[in-house]
Amino acid sequence: MIGKSALVVLSGGQDSTTCLYWAKRNFERVAALSFRYGQKHVAEVDLAHDIAREANVEWECMDLPFIADLAKDCSLTDTSLEIEEEKPADSLPSTFVPGRNLFFLSIAAIYACQKGIFDLVTGVSQTDFSGYPDCRDSFIKSLNVTINLATDRQFRIHTPLMWIDKAQTWKMADELGVMDIVRYRTLTCYNGITGDGCGHCPSCKLRQKGLEQYEQQRKRIAQGTGQED
Ligand code: ZN
Repeated sequence: MIGKSALVVLSGGQDSTTCLYWAKRNFERVAALSFRYGQKHVAEVDLAHDIAREANVEWECMDLPFIADLAKDCSLTDTSLEIEEEKPADSLPSTFVPGRNLFFLSIAAIYACQKGIFDLVTGVSQTDFSGYPDCRDSFIKSLNVTINLATDRQFRIHTPLMWIDKAQTWKMADELGVMDIVRYRTLTCYNGITGDGCGHCPSCKLRQKGLEQYEQQRKRIAQGTGQED
């Protein structure tokens, strides 16, 4: 156990759902907060609700419509733009939503504070950060300091996935006993298809590649020919 209570920022995707169960393992009481911010794949919010209910954690969703208004030329929020399959070289991917994690975590901290919760959990990862600057460890550490200064509290932002890749994230879900929930009940696909997704958006490709790597690793271990990391 790390602490008494934690708030998980829950999108309804693979990473945050794995983090929800990580939090359940490490905290006595867990709450989850989701955001509706004009994302095309807004169905993830309903899935997040279902996931939270099944995990028996209190859940709330907040509307932040201004995020989509601020995000010009973002293919994740602008319905007139297509999500490209490959990230352009030397620029941020078109799916980058400016300020998303800055807003999410700042609001989550204020929300948690009202509930007497000072441990926040987010599924960001620097290893598979897809070129999003607000998924990096330096940003999270910096924001943690800023939130503490802003509130005069001692928050701790936990990032269980920061230094692991997608294959290791699958492994974590498996070890937490929620492989099927994460695989079939979450939505990571930018085109809004639950479970294994559309198969060709950048998010599906990353998720699928990680799953294949993990399954191969598991097979090698079962055959006694592989090393567990
Ligand atoms: Zn997809």
